[in-house]
Amino acid sequence: MTKILNYINNEWVEPKVSEYADVINPATGEVIAKTPLCGKVEVDAATKAASDAFPAWRRTPVQDRIQYLFKLRDLLLANHDEIGRVITEECGKTLGEAKAEMVRAIENVEVACGMPMMMKGEMAEDVARGIDEIMLRQPLGVCATIAPFNFPGMIPFWYLPYALATGNTYVIKPSEKVSLTMKFIFELIDQVDFPKGVVNLVNGAKDSVDAILDHPDIRAITFVGSTNIAKYVYRRAAENGKRVQAQGGAKNPVIIMPDADMEMATDIVADSAFGCAGQRCLAVSLAVTVAEAHNNFTELICDAAASRTVGYGLDDGVQMGPLIDQNSKERVEQLIGLGAKEGATALVDGRGASVKGYENGAFVRPTVLADVQPNSDMWKTEIFGPVLSMMHVNTIDDAIKLANSHVYGNQASLFTSSGSAARKFRYEVEAGNVGINIGVAAPMAFFPFSGWKDSFFGDMHGQGMDAVEFFTQKKVVIERWPKEWSRKF
Ligand code: NAD
Repeated sequence: MTKILNYINNEWVEPKVSEYADVINPATGEVIAKTPLCGKVEVDAATKAASDAFPAWRRTPVQDRIQYLFKLRDLLLANHDEIGRVITEECGKTLGEAKAEMVRAIENVEVACGMPMMMKGEMAEDVARGIDEIMLRQPLGVCATIAPFNFPGMIPFWYLPYALATGNTYVIKPSEKVSLTMKFIFELIDQVDFPKGVVNLVNGAKDSVDAILDHPDIRAITFVGSTNIAKYVYRRAAENGKRVQAQGGAKNPVIIMPDADMEMATDIVADSAFGCAGQRCLAVSLAVTVAEAHNNFTELICDAAASRTVGYGLDDGVQMGPLIDQNSKERVEQLIGLGAKEGATALVDGRGASVKGYENGAFVRPTVLADVQPNSDMWKTEIFGPVLSMMHVNTIDDAIKLANSHVYGNQASLFTSSGSAARKFRYEVEAGNVGINIGVAAPMAFFPFSGWKDSFFGDMHGQGMDAVEFFTQKKVVIERWPKEWSRKF
């Protein structure tokens, strides 16, 4: 059983807490670690370390700050396989998916290494006669990230490298369900040997989140998780005068046009809907077939769902792992039942799954539900499992209207071979991340990871220039230097 500690002021610290959350290998059901449920005391200690480190880190030239990130990038690459294994063990996704997640994390470090160019300001001479105006970007101070369970390695890296490269100091609180990944990554961070207190790790659940939201010295907070908690974090952090961005849940539609390449669409949609056991915020979960796409696509996607190999993500040939825990399995199975009660038909039913050798695993097999009713609870609810709901309409206008009627707006995808259908969709669809013949429209590190409507609260997103904006404050300086003040040489 691994002991999870905090990392504060470059020291591993054992918190004095009485409550722990189990970290469970979701394929075996075995408890593999205990996450200490820290609160105000530990958040205060981490924030103090970060606050004390800020003045010197801020004055460190940006070219020197990024040298630490180059080192971190090399360590992440050198330990890529090992981090992947840890993610699979505590999160359930396959090793391939876990390693792909870390590729995205590493890309964010690489992009943030361009900070000397990215955080430069602007200047205009002679805005009035003899007067110049300058815009500088300066760091905020201590920033914090509150992360979800489903990408324990990648999501903190939407923020961490940008926050540090821009001169902020940092506190991260991972999900209590998957604390081993950040433990491993902080062992690498320890080898990077950042100046003391620049980057800190606090473990916990609600109490530690509340302590972060209320701490007067934390200037900016990024959150990723479910919509209810995102709203709560956004409200409470904003009330406390902090800069905040909060990514929420999703229910991502994919529209299949009759002129789509059906085989390609099926492969990609199956990967999106069932990859990571559907526990991706960009997983498509609602397939809307248009006109005669219905028959072809339905048959192909049912075959793809039924033939997916489910098992332990570290075993060869496994295409889909378990859900995060037994509670999730129960919740997803209940939702499939609810869909059936509300008039949907389970064409492929993944309930009651058992995988030989892993009988205690939280497995639900891929599921396809046809004729899900608009505005039914099944339609409204984020399932966060390997369940593809299907609906049918006759025109692209109806399909876009249906997609846009949902409260979420994280991602929307279209499969077509028509440029005009693609353009119409791109123009009209109400989602922050859009895929055209793409099933998981995950923005590269040099684009913002977007999200609209109930999937995102805030304005600046993670990654790329949005992260630079988020982690810096602009200072505008207007200068006059009268000639007569100059010494004569
Ligand atoms: P979650 O909301 O349960 O937890 C997220 C974080 O909030 C965790 O660190 C957790 O400790 C903390 N938390 C949980 N309950 C809290 C409470 N009552 N008060 C204060 N803090 C609390 O989310 P999760 O189950 O870990 O992750 C899955 C969710 O995240 C899904 O809804 C998924 O769509 C969403 N997600 C969104 C994105 C995106 O980019 N929009 C990306 C990944 C995941």
